[in-house]
Amino acid sequence: MEAYDLVIVGGGPVGLFAATLARLHGLATCVLESLPAFGGQLYALYPEKPIYDVAGFTGITGKDLAQQLYAQATHWGPTLYANQAVQRIARRPDGAGFEVETPDRRYQARSLLITVGLGAFVPRPLPADNAERFRDRGVYYLLPPLDTFRDQRVLVVGGGDTALDWTLALAPRAREVKLVHRRPQFRGQAESLRQIQAAPNVTIHTPYELVRVEGDDAVRQVVVREVTSRAEAAWPVDAVVSGLGFLPSLGPVKEWGLALDGQALVVDPATMQTNQPGIYAAGDGVHYPGKVKLIATGFGEVGIAMAQIRHYLDPSKHGLPHSTTLKTLPQPAPPQPS
Ligand SMILES: Cc1cc2nc3c(=O)[nH]c(=O)nc-3n(C[C@H](O)[C@H](O)[C@H](O)COP(=O)(O)OP(=O)(O)OC[C@H]3O[C@@H](n4cnc5c(N)ncnc54)[C@H](O)[C@@H]3O)c2cc1C
Repeated sequence: MEAYDLVIVGGGPVGLFAATLARLHGLATCVLESLPAFGGQLYALYPEKPIYDVAGFTGITGKDLAQQLYAQATHWGPTLYANQAVQRIARRPDGAGFEVETPDRRYQARSLLITVGLGAFVPRPLPADNAERFRDRGVYYLLPPLDTFRDQRVLVVGGGDTALDWTLALAPRAREVKLVHRRPQFRGQAESLRQIQAAPNVTIHTPYELVRVEGDDAVRQVVVREVTSRAEAAWPVDAVVSGLGFLPSLGPVKEWGLALDGQALVVDPATMQTNQPGIYAAGDGVHYPGKVKLIATGFGEVGIAMAQIRHYLDPSKHGLPHSTTLKTLPQPAPPQPS
């Protein structure tokens, strides 16, 4: 079983930055991420949206920030594993830290940092026949690389920011995009809607709902219904993208014996420790009075947590030295593909 000083559960922006800090301060560190790629919400929910309030950038898209954080973390050589959804954590009976279990592996950790954010991204299911049959083969709940849609006819479903953002992201690549929403009004930002209305290859259809996805080895067409008249129509499409959003679900995290406030782990903001010694948490997945769900806040929480984790692992160590004063740095790892 692989053994680490620190196992970080969740490879979103906060978990990735935590991996950088942990390695800079000499901890053998591993990050376990349930999705196939790192970056959390930046990667999964708004890859193409510019972010304006991350220190050091006048504006950076979610995808680019995720890539920068990944490159920074991998530079210092933590072990990063994707497709590793942590199901269970348990204190070892001999008291030597914890065991962490995913469906196919087990890890040993002297300490844990939980950075699971919103938890597992559980998409709201598309209420349409056959959608499940084509999942990830023409029906998408998370955007794959946008080049997947080059020259395709794409149907986007939904009326909130996710649907509008994804329509805008797809328009420059796809041959045509049809946006359907079952209500006459959209909930997303007016500016996004204005840009969509101006895009020459996007058409908006309201109030319409998706009834059925049809195809053979690939999606060939969809059947949609005009909500008022109930009239149905078949449209040829190559792909369907659900912008119906995600249901927050901490999933297995709820079973780990950690104190919760709703969907968030309760921590002491002075230490970022949970109710269990040796288990710390940071980022969107934590709650304390005054908590603000921002990337910047998560980064700050990681600094606090890392000082405490160092002290927990070696009580002679206090605080967190400036990186500029570190006498030994970890050996940089060769660049890894993102
Ligand atoms: C549309 C949108 C726009 C936003 N705009 C901004 C903005 O402008 N500025 C800003 O500061 N913030 C913004 N945010 C918020 C920001 O994205 C979050 O604060 C940030 O992503 C939190 O990072 P995190 O690492 O804590 O959690 P997440 O990004 O949610 O990452 C958590 C990771 O943990 C993984 N995970 C969950 N459970 C497990 C498990 N059991 N095992 C292994 N892995 C697990 C998840 O797959 C995920 O990758 C925005 C959010 C959204 C949705």
